[in-house]
Amino acid sequence: MLQQSAIAELRTQLRGEVITPEDGRYDSTRKVYNAMIDRKPAAFAECVDAADVMAAVRFARAHNVMVAIRGGGHNAGGLGVADDALVVDLAPIRYVHVDPSSQTVRAGGGCRWSDVDHATHAFGLAVPSGIIGTTGVGGLTLGGGMGHLTRKYGLTIDNLLAADLVLADGRFVTASADENSDLFWAIRGGGGNFGIVTSFLFQAHPVHTVCAGPMLWEMDQAADIMRWYREFIVQAPEEINGFFAFMTVPPGPPFPEALHMKKMCGIVWCYTGGMEDANQILQPIRSYRPPACELFGPMPFPVLQSLFDGLYPPGLQWYWKADFFKELSDQAIETHLHQAAKMPAMHSTMHLYPVNGAARRVGPHETPWSYRDAVWSEVIVGVDPDPANRGHITDWARGYYDALHPFGAGGAYVNFMMDEGEDRVRATYRGNYDRLAAVKAKYDPDNFFRVNQNIRPAAAGSAGAR
Ligand SMILES: Cc1cc2nc3c(=O)[nH]c(=O)nc-3n(C[C@H](O)[C@H](O)[C@H](O)COP(=O)(O)OP(=O)(O)OC[C@H]3O[C@@H](n4cnc5c(N)ncnc54)[C@H](O)[C@@H]3O)c2cc1C
Repeated sequence: MLQQSAIAELRTQLRGEVITPEDGRYDSTRKVYNAMIDRKPAAFAECVDAADVMAAVRFARAHNVMVAIRGGGHNAGGLGVADDALVVDLAPIRYVHVDPSSQTVRAGGGCRWSDVDHATHAFGLAVPSGIIGTTGVGGLTLGGGMGHLTRKYGLTIDNLLAADLVLADGRFVTASADENSDLFWAIRGGGGNFGIVTSFLFQAHPVHTVCAGPMLWEMDQAADIMRWYREFIVQAPEEINGFFAFMTVPPGPPFPEALHMKKMCGIVWCYTGGMEDANQILQPIRSYRPPACELFGPMPFPVLQSLFDGLYPPGLQWYWKADFFKELSDQAIETHLHQAAKMPAMHSTMHLYPVNGAARRVGPHETPWSYRDAVWSEVIVGVDPDPANRGHITDWARGYYDALHPFGAGGAYVNFMMDEGEDRVRATYRGNYDRLAAVKAKYDPDNFFRVNQNIRPAAAGSAGAR
């Protein structure tokens, strides 16, 4: 544990605040999005700029303290905090600068996606991200980034142009295609293993108003919808994205009262063109199986991005399991239906995110994100506000995963995993793992950054070293 004299020394080195267990706001500061996580770090360094981050890293090295990096604090496994660690908290670094002429966006390492969406929307631009505005830019980007614009513009990492990082030895570097290109390769999917990103530079795209929202169907039509969806989404125009979900209808507007608290299946669409074209593309499903409820229509992109923020506020209990899938067989669909029938009400859900379209056009070794040949990224999330139900939601998510895993492609999206051990991390990076381990050995040979989906530094002279 850190001595008071050491904390006093750290306070003199930072412009941001240092929070310790003696502080009144220690307990609120150590909370992360998932209320199941209850960790007690030694201190939080609330960094306001890159200089603070460099000072915090050098301090942690000098005092032999483990570092955890917190971006948006959304990670379900709680990887933004760790017991007895010094948490480098990037929350104060939340600036966004949009350059409309180059359509690029620079975002501070502690930004949430809603910060970026708000800033870019004014210029008629958007950066491909996820589906919830409160998620951190840092963790989502470094793990890959899948969301409403994946089919049209690729993963978030496919739109990353450069990043500024503080390395494990406290040095500040830029990583891009031209500078430290090995590091740039590794951070596009390799997570927070290589350094602390203080700013990201993204390519944005002209996205302003989208035609979007959910369509819902009764569960007795779920098999038909899944079979239709598996054919549709692999050949649909890339302008349309749609993720499949099992969910419980929330008990309030805008959902019709007759459907409140009903278990249903749905597809959440996002079309980047006009309403007339959207209606034409979606006409086949409307005439095949008319939805029981549709909330599809034109909306500003940031509205779509924050559509579910109210349903999933911070402070719920979360347990996740995930896999990639290359196909959705009839047998897998049967298994889904069986598991979905046991889904706990009302926040728990299962999503299938399409990985195809522009995301598929990037080669499997161009970035560490190796499952470019997957068609879906599945996530099963047990969610409940009541800590008394944590066992129930965990058991349901595990049971669902165990039943579906035999149909899977082998690995899972790192940002949808809990702490599942080294084999699972290796399975996820497949043939890219050794190269990641070699980059890790170059930039972080002591595994200083290890509160993450950890990539162990390659031993000197091992096969991965290049
Ligand atoms: C409600 C919800 C919805 C989600 N939706 C999506 C989605 O649509 N698409 C998707 O792809 N993912 C989604 N995710 C998963 C999300 O990408 C991960 O949880 C991600 O880790 C969150 O990033 P964060 O910065 O908020 O997390 P944190 O908990 O702060 O950090 C997570 C990890 O990233 C590292 N990290 C964070 N910031 C930095 C940084 N600046 N520099 C270096 N390392 C850093 C941390 O060390 C840690 O290991 C969702 C998660 C939740 C809870």
